[in-house]
Amino acid sequence: MIDINKLEKIKKNFFQGSLEYTKNQPDLFLPHKYQMVSPSTINSFLDDLKISIINDKRLLIYIHLPFCFSECVFCNSFPHKTDKKQQELYFKSILKEIELFAKTGLFDGREVQCIYFGGGTPTTFSNDNLKDIINKLKDYINIVEGASITTEAHPSTLKSSDRIKGLSEIGINRVSIGCQTFDPEVLKICKRSHTKESIKKIITTLNDLNMLNNIDMMTGLPGQTIESLKRDMEILEEIKPVAVEYLRHEIVNPLAVEIYKKNPDLLVKDEDLFQMVYMMQSWMQKQGYEQNGYFTDKKYWEYRHHWINQMPIIAFGSRARSYSKLISWDKHEDTQIYSKLIDKNILPIGRYIKLSKDDQMYRTLFLNLQALKGLSLAEFKERFNENGLDIFKVLLQNLQEFDLVKITDTHICLTENGAFFVEDVCDFIIDFALNLESKDLKRNPNSLGSTSSRL
Ligand code: SF4
Repeated sequence: MIDINKLEKIKKNFFQGSLEYTKNQPDLFLPHKYQMVSPSTINSFLDDLKISIINDKRLLIYIHLPFCFSECVFCNSFPHKTDKKQQELYFKSILKEIELFAKTGLFDGREVQCIYFGGGTPTTFSNDNLKDIINKLKDYINIVEGASITTEAHPSTLKSSDRIKGLSEIGINRVSIGCQTFDPEVLKICKRSHTKESIKKIITTLNDLNMLNNIDMMTGLPGQTIESLKRDMEILEEIKPVAVEYLRHEIVNPLAVEIYKKNPDLLVKDEDLFQMVYMMQSWMQKQGYEQNGYFTDKKYWEYRHHWINQMPIIAFGSRARSYSKLISWDKHEDTQIYSKLIDKNILPIGRYIKLSKDDQMYRTLFLNLQALKGLSLAEFKERFNENGLDIFKVLLQNLQEFDLVKITDTHICLTENGAFFVEDVCDFIIDFALNLESKDLKRNPNSLGSTSSRL
């Protein structure tokens, strides 16, 4: 039974409204800790990296392909406009970056568990390009049999069944399609143009080819209403993708800021947004779709499953972020600097963070809470030689007061409300971790954070 009082308390005290919300999932991010890496300090970075993955035999590989035909209003990844010459150069740089990384010896004795092509729109690159990248990896490291290989895709790039068939032939077995909504009015505002029919055709082809598929959706888009969200869900029920991931719209794109400046009525009111998130989560649960907060197994999104369990992510491409249990590192953002360094046989690492023991403990909680089983107290004790209930005592008291977490004999996990508002819980954990260091520190995600001040 729904406890309205509890929900009201969460809304009042925890929920991040349209202007405050900053996307912090799936990983803990502590930008104030960055150290810059230069060609003269790259070796000490590599020494730290070697130590940080010494016990990890399997890796996740992320390939960042940041080009799109045009920019969507809800985009928070600031891609480049498609450009044949620039993409050709970038593609060659990725191949060479893989070679340079392999020369460090860090692939030796290891295997690849999953590969994820993200962006941007990776499918603005040809199937041959994607195949060459997979083959380049295979030159240096074994890819486990049946590895999950995902590409993100813009619907317009999958109009032809042959294109999708080609993806399957090169080994891609999971496709994540960015839809966000089916509402034609909202799509127009967001500069997107797919239809229910076009997505249905893609999903049918993917299903026929036994390729896992996921549709990305959003709440809080400009002009979106509760009614239009309901219609989106009805369409999803008809299309039947294998998986759905709903995110909240994070207002970071200047195009969105402009839209709201011109027409403030398009901004979804916090009251409505709260209802949308609750509705969406209830629907996801009823349909049996897994969301952050209640992941149970690795079937539909193996890459995220291993990420939550802290398998190292080695990312290739400009701006791409990598993680191990002990450090996190970013490539140079500027694609030209990225390519120039690679031309000079230098790994294009821009900056990195060494996680302190506290950071590692908070990251472990942050990631584990995204899975239904939560954080195992025994595993926490084994890794950190600390009692998780003592370490997180105050944080947990705060979250328990609002019925967002529960503590069992063996685990710390989210309640149903905690899982429904997992993004707000994650924001709260980051704020809490930052505040432990200094009251002046503010959450500041990669996207440059909340745009409240820009609006
Ligand atoms: S297709 Fe995706 S990555 Fe490209 S602009 Fe749109 S939201 Fe951003």
